[in-house]
Amino acid sequence: MPFTLRGDDVCQPTPPTPLPNPYWVAFSADAANLIHIKLGANGLPQDEHWLDVLAGNELHVGEYTFSNPISTAYSGHQFGSWAGQLGDGRAILLGDIHHQELQLKGAGRTHYSRMGDGRAVLRSSIREFLCSEAMHALGIPTSRALAVVGSKQAVRRETLETAAVCSRIASSFIRVGHFEHFASLQNNVRLKELADLLISEFYLECRKEKDPYLNLFKAISSRNAKLVAQWQSVGFCHGVLNSDNISALGLTIDYGPFGFLDHFEIDHICNHSDQGGRYAYHRQPQIMHWNMACLASAMLPLLELEHSPEESQNLLRSALEEFPVIYAKEWQQLFRLKLGLQLAHDGDTKLIERLLQAMHDSQVDFTSFFRSLSHIGKDSKPSDIAQRDQFIDRDNIDHWLNDYIDRLQLEDMSDESRRELMNHSNPKYILRNHLAQAAIEKAQQDDFSEIEKLHRVLSKPFDEQLEYDAYSKPPPLDMQRVAVSCSS
Ligand code: AMP
Ligand code: MG
Repeated sequence: MPFTLRGDDVCQPTPPTPLPNPYWVAFSADAANLIHIKLGANGLPQDEHWLDVLAGNELHVGEYTFSNPISTAYSGHQFGSWAGQLGDGRAILLGDIHHQELQLKGAGRTHYSRMGDGRAVLRSSIREFLCSEAMHALGIPTSRALAVVGSKQAVRRETLETAAVCSRIASSFIRVGHFEHFASLQNNVRLKELADLLISEFYLECRKEKDPYLNLFKAISSRNAKLVAQWQSVGFCHGVLNSDNISALGLTIDYGPFGFLDHFEIDHICNHSDQGGRYAYHRQPQIMHWNMACLASAMLPLLELEHSPEESQNLLRSALEEFPVIYAKEWQQLFRLKLGLQLAHDGDTKLIERLLQAMHDSQVDFTSFFRSLSHIGKDSKPSDIAQRDQFIDRDNIDHWLNDYIDRLQLEDMSDESRRELMNHSNPKYILRNHLAQAAIEKAQQDDFSEIEKLHRVLSKPFDEQLEYDAYSKPPPLDMQRVAVSCSS
């Protein structure tokens, strides 16, 4: 297992705990392809042992033997405070296949479970499955989900629920928290091994340069800056941006009480236990930057291998200052594309911000509004544009629409080509909470058809799929604020 962290200061052997009478709840053929699982006509693995492997009941299937399942230790900051050692409390790394790590989430207690039961409930496993695969289809870097396997085994949360295991795949699950772990142990040898492993496996471009660790920091920070810009562009709120949930590869990981915006609310909080709104939509970029500061301080000893302490601090401080610049550039580019603008003009940021403010003031649905913008042409008149009816302050939106139509004149693109461009930047289908909730409620009655349908629709988020038009609509009034429990 070349990518895996080794040594008992960072991982422990962890056999999964068997799950009684497992059954398939969800399966992603696309994710299965990543690790070359052969599928039958029903879209499930040909080899039936996969069900038991993904339930945590077996460690052998076909040519694969997972002889050394482990869980890893990491440390980190939760809600802005140092939380000390955490670790995979319910994630077990089975091993790697075809350069991908295969993890079982919810397969029982590990060395790092603390007070937890090591299990995951059906509800949260379905949400993680659907969202991982939907994010991938949106072109956003993410861990993938292979399957959800269910069981009638009871799990206690606020009420009694049933257990499930979500199997996930990523080229690595290494986190900022792994750096913080070795830094907190003041073990610079292990810290260096971790950085060297990342460079040799995932950031080869950093090895060539003279300051490999500074370059590694910049590369991780840049990936995460771009990632958070992508989240903003589709209205995704992660919900728990603690440093232990931040990937060293710039992937979206650890789906919990996440949510996509329905109507645009700049300070939307999707996590019901986030009372201060630390992880609200508009704070995500700033919080990701904060997490990169945690990474910088954990990596400081590595820079000190080549530089004086003062120089090292200065180098990391300037590298950290690049984050908002990279983020802003990516954000502007993504939102320009959402407006169908290929060229960059000075007033573009202001134009985007004015629109978002108007959408916030009138609680306009984020996804469907951006999708519908492509119908506006260079010759449109604000008074003919149906979308203006969604805004309370008509004069303000008419003013904006006039400016937008003026701005379109500067583009050398036909209305038709622009529409095509916009339809690749503005998804029609996202995993709205009420859709996930409907699929979960059916699954709790042992009907998994809605998960399959939703998974299929969300695998082509930019396509029209007219037969599934209803899945593109904002939630009905009574479903507008579906509560997402944080217990999972
Ligand atoms: P999260 O915010 O979901 O990433 O979880 C924070 C920490 O709590 C991680 O170290 C998890 O592994 C751990 N954790 C969450 N739920 C459980 C559980 N049911 N059993 C054991 N550990 C858990
Ligand atoms: Mg986590």
